[in-house]
Parts: sequence; structure tokens; C-alpha cells
Amino acid sequence: MKRVLLHICCGPCSITTLKHLLDEGYAVTGLFFNPNIHPLMEYVKRRDGCIEVAEQLGIRVIVKDNEYKPQEWFRAVAHRENNRCFHCYAMRMERTAQIARKGGFDFFTTTLLYSKYQKHDEIAALGRDLESAKTKFLYHDFREGWQEGIETSKEWGIYRQQYCGCLYSENERYKKELDT
Ligand code: SF4
Repeated sequence: MKRVLLHICCGPCSITTLKHLLDEGYAVTGLFFNPNIHPLMEYVKRRDGCIEVAEQLGIRVIVKDNEYKPQEWFRAVAHRENNRCFHCYAMRMERTAQIARKGGFDFFTTTLLYSKYQKHDEIAALGRDLESAKTKFLYHDFREGWQEGIETSKEWGIYRQQYCGCLYSENERYKKELDT
């Protein structure tokens, strides 16, 4: 059975992504590595949502709480805030590819390919750049499970976030609150 390391950004995005991979017959391990989620308690809510989904579907998740270092994330995007998503994807996918290689996985991929709000083609290109001879990038357009993922996450009571993750995205989401 081929082994896949799936980078998971949150519970809701992982539901149909995991179901698809399991239906395809892969042995899946999740990886929660997201220093882009601010503030810390928001990170905890998303992490716990990811763990709940993994338990429901019976998969193991590697949780990198010890690598939750927002300061490193801010350094990676500093002075390139307009292109921050690329650097944010790269940081998370580079680490995923590295752990997958070290762990002898056949493939790595990411739930970022599930979101209709992310730059899908940029994420796919990054994945292809990061693959190696033994650990390939597994591309699939997981957006096909979008609606089912929303419905199931509500049914299962999985935490659903209101903004992408970083303080910049939180600011964009709520900036209307400053209108006077
Ligand atoms: S908006 Fe989302 S993908 Fe873009 S930098 Fe912020 S957390 Fe990362």
C-alpha cells in the first residue's frame, strides 16, 4: 500500500480530502504544521478540529506544536506582504516534503488544494518543484469535495474558521469594523 503524508491546514479542509485518499487505497498520515495561524488560541482550535476529523476517520496525525513559531513565519513574509501567500505555502510545503522524504513516504500532498480561496495553481506548482525521486507530489483537485466538506464539518461539529489564518487575513476579514 502506498503511503501519503497529507499536510492538513484545518479540520473542515481535511474531511473530503482524507476520504478521497482513503477511497483510493492510500495509507494516509496527517501532518499539522501551520505557524501561519494567529493568534495561538485560533491555532489550538484548528489543531483540535484536525485531530477530531482524524479520529473520526481513523488516521494518525503528526502535530508539530513544537514548531509553532509565528516569529519565523513573520520573518519569512516580512517586506513581501503582497506576495505573502506564496511564502506561506512554501514554508509549510517545504517542511511537509522534508518530513515525507525522511519518513520514507511515497507521496506528499496538502489540504490547501481543497480550498476555493487559495491559489490552487501556485500550490500545485510548488508541490511539483518539491518532489524528489522517491517522494512524489500527489496532485489532485480536492475542490471537488468542497460542498460535502462544508456539510460534513457542520454535521460533525468541527470548528470552522472565519479567516484564512494570519493576522493580515484576519485584518482583511474584519476591517469593516473600523469604518465609522
Ligand atoms: S492569507 Fe492565508 S495563505 Fe495567505 S499568508 Fe495568510 S495564512 Fe497564509
